[in-house]
Amino acid sequence: MKNEAAPIGPGVVLRVGELFLKGRNRFRFEEALACNVRRAVADRPDVEVVLEHGRIFALGACDTDSLASLASVFGVASLSPALFCEKGVPPITEAALALTVGKTGPARTFRIAARRSDKRFPLKSTELAREVGAAVQRATGLGVDLTAPDLTVGVEVGPRWAFVWAQELPGAGGLPVGTSGRALLLLSGGIDSPCAGHLMQKRGLKLAAVYFHAFPYTGDGARDKVVDLARVLARRQGPLRLFVVPFARVQEALRDNAPGDYLVVLYRRAMLRIACRLAKREGLPALVTGESLGQVASQTLANIAAIEDAASLPVLRPLIGFDKLETVGLARTIGTYDISIRPHMDCCSLFVPPHPITKGSAKQAAFAESRVDLAPLMDEAVAASEVSDL
Ligand code: ATP
Ligand code: MG
Repeated sequence: MKNEAAPIGPGVVLRVGELFLKGRNRFRFEEALACNVRRAVADRPDVEVVLEHGRIFALGACDTDSLASLASVFGVASLSPALFCEKGVPPITEAALALTVGKTGPARTFRIAARRSDKRFPLKSTELAREVGAAVQRATGLGVDLTAPDLTVGVEVGPRWAFVWAQELPGAGGLPVGTSGRALLLLSGGIDSPCAGHLMQKRGLKLAAVYFHAFPYTGDGARDKVVDLARVLARRQGPLRLFVVPFARVQEALRDNAPGDYLVVLYRRAMLRIACRLAKREGLPALVTGESLGQVASQTLANIAAIEDAASLPVLRPLIGFDKLETVGLARTIGTYDISIRPHMDCCSLFVPPHPITKGSAKQAAFAESRVDLAPLMDEAVAASEVSDL
């Protein structure tokens, strides 16, 4: 709080998820969450975000847009539009009536869930619940049901103010972005990799991304698509660093010197090698890909193993057990689908014959690579990669 006076008026109460966290970790988690919540409503300078005793309050936020932004922050388990008021029975009762009279819809019963963290407040929680409950009952005609009410009205008396809510909405869940560390997402223009990035952000990873651009075979449109996808991912975390790696010369060298049926496996191995180098340079300890078991020829178990052999960092694959339709559903909800389906060529299909190998082996792949002078081309690709912070 900038000023110590009690805020009077609307706001949002955000509840923190994953409550098993303790001590120092819990503190770090809450600080990160408050910071991410602040970013989610950064376009609303009139909204003040306060972290207090493990609760996060967004004071002044009450419109549907702010609620939606707040609900999308990872680490928020649930949230309630609330009325903040002074710590007294009359203002609390007034707030409870403002939230219930004429607004109870089909509800027939209710209860007051009262809590008081300010133990100096003259009424005990049960007494407060009884007083406020009696007023709500008189004004709305609802019956009281303490075990399975249609409507729960929350009343809380904190150290600096009291607040009342009558609706609890689900939050995005997960962990605050940044609290699990950072990783490098291999972001193609496809449907899967943005979803993979989103799921890892949900588990608290902050992402950087790398796109392998086979210019001039894949045009500017393909790259713009990836930039747009990265921007969508950036909404959940703030600035996202994107590397665009020129990849055509590596692909041409493989095309000219390696067996056609191994090309996809070899491209992907080269991508992982370059990605690991960029990740290490940036201090990112893991990679993320959008692979899903059996989805395409490069994603058979044998090929995943043959590809992973080239990685010197852990490769996280959150979509490994997803059906394509599940991924498409996720892409639609997170707003990446319409970008991903813009028609542009995928560099993995470049020069590839109709029947790529499905049972690749790391040994065979390494043998094929030993006949191509890839190292200088990969150095060149790393050196020529473009960086932008989106
Ligand atoms: P996507 O829809 O994410 O492109 P996909 O089902 O088309 O996935 P592949 O093309 O085999 O599958 O790619 C598997 C994964 O490899 C992708 O999810 C992505 O993480 C990575 N990848 C593939 N191509 C590129 C690229 N050009 N740049 C960066 N990463 C890529
Ligand atoms: Mg693809």
